[in-house]
Amino acid sequence: MPELPEVETVRRGLADRLSLFEIERVEVCRSRAIASSGGVDAFLVGLTGARVGTWSRRGKYLMAALEPDRGIWGVHLRMTGQFQWIEEPSTPCTHTRVRFWNPHGHELRFVDVRSFGEMWWVPPDVELTVGIPGLARLGPEPFSEAFNALYLKRQLKNSSRPIKTALLDQALVAGVGNIYADESLFSAGIPPLTPAGRLTLAQLERLRSSLVEVLTTSIGAGGTTFSDFRDLEGVNGNYGGQAWVYRRGGEPCRRCGTIIRRDKLSGRSTHWCPTCQG
Ligand code: ZN
Repeated sequence: MPELPEVETVRRGLADRLSLFEIERVEVCRSRAIASSGGVDAFLVGLTGARVGTWSRRGKYLMAALEPDRGIWGVHLRMTGQFQWIEEPSTPCTHTRVRFWNPHGHELRFVDVRSFGEMWWVPPDVELTVGIPGLARLGPEPFSEAFNALYLKRQLKNSSRPIKTALLDQALVAGVGNIYADESLFSAGIPPLTPAGRLTLAQLERLRSSLVEVLTTSIGAGGTTFSDFRDLEGVNGNYGGQAWVYRRGGEPCRRCGTIIRRDKLSGRSTHWCPTCQG
């Protein structure tokens, strides 16, 4: 599943490729992909004829300003959603959900095998968090000042949830999923099962800075090699080669040689080193 670094990589690709992209035509191949009110009809009216402006990201949500003053185009890739940039006309695969063309016949294609990906059109007079309700529930961005050790201490007070589970909660911090939760806990030396409310301010500060560092490294590597993630040009990232624990269960820890453990926690695989995170 794409997490913050993968979504940020896609955002950068879209910003490069779609600069001044004029949406001449839109085809929705699967109506379920459109989640905004008014459904497919309103989406088509909203996007057709608009020019794609600045792309921004909030958690795992992508948003493009539509110009001139045509509202916002929102996208969530969910499990397997991906964009493809297509210059020569080609037959779409069966997993194609939405297609966009510019006047030069270039196509931006949204392909989604599992079909959980969603798109929204938010009209200019509608509040963004009303048009895309999931945005209202998001916690702070990991890179923001609002995300600090004191914030974590307050939010996690008396919580008996394992810290790994808490990190996956988008209301605590936006954009973190399984890969970067495991990697940042390793880097901070914190066992994933630790009840979140028991972590000290110093541990929480270590966790915050580890998370920021891990995310920054992965963004620099163009996202992960794991899952089905591909950027706009069909390339996956390079972060996998640098993973310390993620998907390394049964292998020796790169730092101390202890065998990496893989445990189920809240239905997700958790990878950790019992020595480095002792
Ligand atoms: Zn170790």
